[in-house]
Amino acid sequence: MKIQKVIKCKVVCLTNVKRELLTQEYENLQRFLYGDNSVKLYSANKQQAERFYKRVKPDKEYPLSIRKDLIKVGKRDTKIAKYWARIPVAGRRGGVWVAIKPHQDIPDDVEICESKLFRRGSDFYLHLTIQKEIDFVKVETSDYVLYAPPSFTVSERTVVMAIDIGEANPIASVELWGFGMQRKNVRFLGREVRTIRAHYNWVKKSVGRKKIKHALKWIKERIEHKESRKVADVLHKATRSIVDRAIELKQLGFEPIIVFGNLKGVRKLKGKVRCRKNNRKVHTMPSFKIKHMLLYKALWAEIPVATVNEAWTSKQCWRCGSTNTVVRKRMFKCRDCGLEYNRDLNGSVNIGNRLLGYMLRSRADVNQPQTPPVYSVPISDSVCEGRSHPFNGW
Ligand SMILES: [Zn+2]
Repeated sequence: MKIQKVIKCKVVCLTNVKRELLTQEYENLQRFLYGDNSVKLYSANKQQAERFYKRVKPDKEYPLSIRKDLIKVGKRDTKIAKYWARIPVAGRRGGVWVAIKPHQDIPDDVEICESKLFRRGSDFYLHLTIQKEIDFVKVETSDYVLYAPPSFTVSERTVVMAIDIGEANPIASVELWGFGMQRKNVRFLGREVRTIRAHYNWVKKSVGRKKIKHALKWIKERIEHKESRKVADVLHKATRSIVDRAIELKQLGFEPIIVFGNLKGVRKLKGKVRCRKNNRKVHTMPSFKIKHMLLYKALWAEIPVATVNEAWTSKQCWRCGSTNTVVRKRMFKCRDCGLEYNRDLNGSVNIGNRLLGYMLRSRADVNQPQTPPVYSVPISDSVCEGRSHPFNGW
């Protein structure tokens, strides 16, 4: 399967001529989007704009989308920069080569895909989309979705990194070793998200109290933008550390698999089609972001990932399976076996065990020869036996 990733790069050390060319192309794109067809714009960039921006909002700048066959990235270790990118612009054959500074190294064995050029203030940024082929397949059953190499099976070297995604503890993770017999390395990550959200809710409220109606919408948008950037930053770090741990386990010779719960039909709302606004809300929900980040970061590092239906995982006792339980604040208590546990961790253990259950069951189906059912024992054998009976001779 193919897996994509975006690398953010800052365009650095622009000469005046190059800056002029980029600015011109970028501003002409904005004019073109507002209906001015006479502007000079590189023809392929124009086509891209027509393809992508069907509805254009006023007071918004749109990035220049560059077709994959037109962008080129080169590694040239010059004094100025390690990487260079070619951006197609009108009025200069072969485009313009600019120095870029990516937030991480660009691997050699990847394919460069459609990328975007943004402008923030007076700086330009290039969001490069890179793609690579990994030897993974997606297996979807009614119980789980699995992204793994075709030969993937659960063995004694498998470490299930089970993750519960929630509100108070965005990520509660536990490692299940030895077919779920041992639980190790409990971690709670991303808790700062709550403080950030609380802070910005307070800011929004206090803005609302001051009666500056004309500025309100603008302020609100800016605050929301800042908030979601900060939340995303925390979540990036948290998901990164999960994937880094998986990479570490892999290097030690174990076979890690990351598993988290997935509510079926989260994106559908009881038969109704969600409107765009609601859709945006779902996509900005931290839980959605976490799942998305985990999936893509893990697959890029070639770590298997699975999702299981998380229904009942928070209410069921992981030790005895009873649903006769009490969940109060962060505590989980089982009325049947007396287990007292952290509520989110109980969820993660259940999620991990659920996957192990499914995987072990399917492994049993495939690999182990089944004892044939009684009725399939060949009848002729018993006939033989009968014939050999001393009294059968006559
Ligand atoms: Zn119990």
